[in-house]
Amino acid sequence: MNNASALVKILLLMLIAYGLFFFMKREWSLAPNLNEFADATELHPVVAEKRDELIRRSKDKGITVVITDDFRSKEEQDQLYAKGRTTEGNIVTYSKGGESYHNYGLAIDFALEIEKGKVIWDMEYDGNQNGMSDWMEVVEIGKELGFEWGGDWEGFKDYPHFQMNPQDLV
Ligand SMILES: [Zn+2]
Repeated sequence: MNNASALVKILLLMLIAYGLFFFMKREWSLAPNLNEFADATELHPVVAEKRDELIRRSKDKGITVVITDDFRSKEEQDQLYAKGRTTEGNIVTYSKGGESYHNYGLAIDFALEIEKGKVIWDMEYDGNQNGMSDWMEVVEIGKELGFEWGGDWEGFKDYPHFQMNPQDLV
């Protein structure tokens, strides 16, 4: 075996290892162990506590957060998935029943209430007039509390969505 072909073989092996590593990394991040939460019928108590804390800390900054969705059964998720596909409306989710953290009591969706009964999803709105978008201020607080924000996802971005990964339930 000459040096050149040995080098090619080493490079090929490195490439395979590299590809395998990224594939596994993706698999791991896609499939955290949600099995132990499969019987959930409501929000996990830790997530409920963080939700309340999110509302409180936002209020302190003059921002009124409303929670528009929390626990969702797998049947409700399937109905939501059908929206924009087999039923009327726009597509609102890319997760079928069992694929969303809402189905495990580990996710919440929020919006801003700018006056009694008036809820907005405007990410530019600066109601407390501190030069920062209220939406992003809420996102910052959520992340501090340990939530993963749907706006950080690659591909489909879910801006009103917060979820808590099992290892962050502390
Ligand atoms: Zn959501």
